[in-house]
Amino acid sequence: MTDHWQIYALKYAERNARTRADSFIMDDDHASPHAMDYYVWLLQSGDRSIVVDTGYDPDEADRRSRPILQNPATMLDRMGVAANAIDTVILTHLHYDHAGGLKSYPNATLHLQAAELAFATGSCMCQDHMRAPFTGEHVCDAVRALYAGRVEFSVGSREIAPGVETHLIGGHSRGLQCVRVRTRRGWVVLASDASHYYENYRHGKPFPLVVDVAEMLTGFRTIRTLAESDDHVIPGHDPLVRRHFPALLAGDDSIVQLHADPLTVVEPDAADTAGALAK
Ligand SMILES: [Zn+2]
Ligand SMILES: [Zn+2]
Repeated sequence: MTDHWQIYALKYAERNARTRADSFIMDDDHASPHAMDYYVWLLQSGDRSIVVDTGYDPDEADRRSRPILQNPATMLDRMGVAANAIDTVILTHLHYDHAGGLKSYPNATLHLQAAELAFATGSCMCQDHMRAPFTGEHVCDAVRALYAGRVEFSVGSREIAPGVETHLIGGHSRGLQCVRVRTRRGWVVLASDASHYYENYRHGKPFPLVVDVAEMLTGFRTIRTLAESDDHVIPGHDPLVRRHFPALLAGDDSIVQLHADPLTVVEPDAADTAGALAK
């Protein structure tokens, strides 16, 4: 069996009524528009499929008044991947937009950091501010999976399958982890919310939703160290990802191929931001 993986980014939602102040702490330009994409990721090697994060479903979209473009599980279905047949789901963290689709994966073992479930069920959740990005029902889904014997915890770094590793980052959420994947072009790092945008890690700009700023800044270095190059770091919410990588289907950039060589150089330039797309 090969240990080279294909990686697909599936965009299932977007939120464009945002400004740069929502993406960067203390940015000089706080008022310009700054669009956000929402993704899940599919890893495939031979006949093995692993799903990284689950997005959120139409129920959560209604609860938060944040509509989705497509149900992530339906997108997988269109790719020939049945969510209820998936046996491995990696959860980078338990925020609503990453753990909001757990019910679609009743047969999967969930891989998450022990620190994340402890955080999401611990005393910090007494604070409205800390609790806001979590949804109780999603956390309960994770606990139900735990009691059904379907959770494997990591503490730090772990190999999930040959060529697929998770690494604890923290910062944005206490147990946030990134995913490092071996592809034919080298090690790619799915940063998830360790860097929402290219600009966060490239320019050392913390994202405002943060538990520990120092951990977040250290995480910016860690994701770059784990990746083959800057072209191998994939931010978790940046619309530019869909510009830099080729679409799976011509004319539909909602699914792009991260194992393929980038179409364009990912410029380490502040002007190369998602805001440019929103204008
Ligand atoms: Zn998050
Ligand atoms: Zn997120």
